[in-house]
Amino acid sequence: MKKTDKAMFFLEQKDMPTKWYNVLPDLPKPLPTVLHPATGKPVTPDDLKKLFPMALIMQEFSPERYIEIPEEVQTAYRLWRPTTLHRAFHLEKALDTPAKIYYKYEGTSPAGSHKPNTAVAQAYYNKLEGIKRISTETGAGQWGSSLAFAGALFGIEIKVYMVSVSYRQKPYRRSMMEAWGAKCVPSPSPDTKVGRDMLAKDPNYSGSLGFAISEAVEDAASREDTHYSLGSVLNHVLMHQTIIGEEARLQMEMAGCYPDIIVGCVGGGSNFAGMFLPFIRDKFSGKKKDLRIIAVEPESCPSLTKGAFAYDFGDVAGLTPLLKMYTLGHDFTPPPVHAGGLRYHGMAPIISHLHNLGLVEARAVPQIATFQAGIQFARTEGILSAPETMHAIRVTIDEALKCRESGEAKTILLAHSGHGHVDMAAYDAYFSGKLEDYAYPEEKVKEALTRLPKVAV
Ligand SMILES: *Cc1c(COP(=O)(O)O)cnc(C)c1O
Repeated sequence: MKKTDKAMFFLEQKDMPTKWYNVLPDLPKPLPTVLHPATGKPVTPDDLKKLFPMALIMQEFSPERYIEIPEEVQTAYRLWRPTTLHRAFHLEKALDTPAKIYYKYEGTSPAGSHKPNTAVAQAYYNKLEGIKRISTETGAGQWGSSLAFAGALFGIEIKVYMVSVSYRQKPYRRSMMEAWGAKCVPSPSPDTKVGRDMLAKDPNYSGSLGFAISEAVEDAASREDTHYSLGSVLNHVLMHQTIIGEEARLQMEMAGCYPDIIVGCVGGGSNFAGMFLPFIRDKFSGKKKDLRIIAVEPESCPSLTKGAFAYDFGDVAGLTPLLKMYTLGHDFTPPPVHAGGLRYHGMAPIISHLHNLGLVEARAVPQIATFQAGIQFARTEGILSAPETMHAIRVTIDEALKCRESGEAKTILLAHSGHGHVDMAAYDAYFSGKLEDYAYPEEKVKEALTRLPKVAV
């Protein structure tokens, strides 16, 4: 076997990075400030104390470039980390492309995606502060199951508000949460005031991620022993995910390669940021100026490609701080497409900012073409990918095909966020011809944006 034939790159556990990378001090322009929803003034750490442990609040605004991963979190990571970097030889061959395709696979975590990378860290810091209970929301159930797993590791009770339509459609994610000891209810639920008000107004409301956030935030704000936890979007969540890119840097070195293009799917943006932030340093510094970073979203929820870059709430009820981000409007109700993890109205402020500065590209892809790409990946590389991940696979294949046209042997690094073993109903829908493309209409975006909060900046 030649050195260049290697298809898997393993890091030993003793070589796992022990620090997260915080991009904030390296940004070419500072991130827009976060505003208080009631006063419109910048939020203070004190404003957030009711919802988050102080350690995470400090991380959210930290000026430190590296943050030490606590021993206990490293120990938890070692249940499945480091994850493997793969060379996609079979896919390359099928595409007849000179491009070299690498993918970093996060599907080997207990919950089957990247999400436990931040779930275990958040559970740990909450435990340190003596918190007994954490409330959260979940869309398709990946985040709820990841936090349920983390709660089991650190002895914290987890309450999950799950978007009602998914609660009914995805019973197995709910069973996973129960197996790890969490309590999961459909949102809207009778357990909160916003939930009860909604049920009185519209008993058939199918829910949205933004609405479930409102319930989880109300739950945490109303109890002393409870904090709230978010699985994406916020700076500290993206930072916890940089373990992916920090490992990938070392593994790409083992492969003797540096990426020309990094591709990932974005819902709130955490898995992709976790991959590309440790590399974008080299774009800032000029060491790899022409590095291309492509964020892929569904046409049905096109926050980066069709949304406005504006201050908006993270939730429907307007309880969360105001974040400057690409948004479709906080009362956006997504169409029921299968990539449940990508149906959020906003986008991480860090990714929004970098896209606005022209440093991160965005692409929206239709649902059927993403499944075609996902199936081609399954039939070459073997992995049954999550419908979310398929978006990134679509663009990876498109870029590799462009290389076939141009004859360029580019190196493409794909952030592979997870497996689709709990999403086989979506595969069924695809194979039985029930999947449809749906592009979110421009007029609906415009209309929702008229309801953005007014801020004086
Ligand atoms: C949740 C999820 C996503 C989207 O979330 P990000 O915060 O954008 O990473 C993508 N892929 C998988 C497999 C997920 O579970």
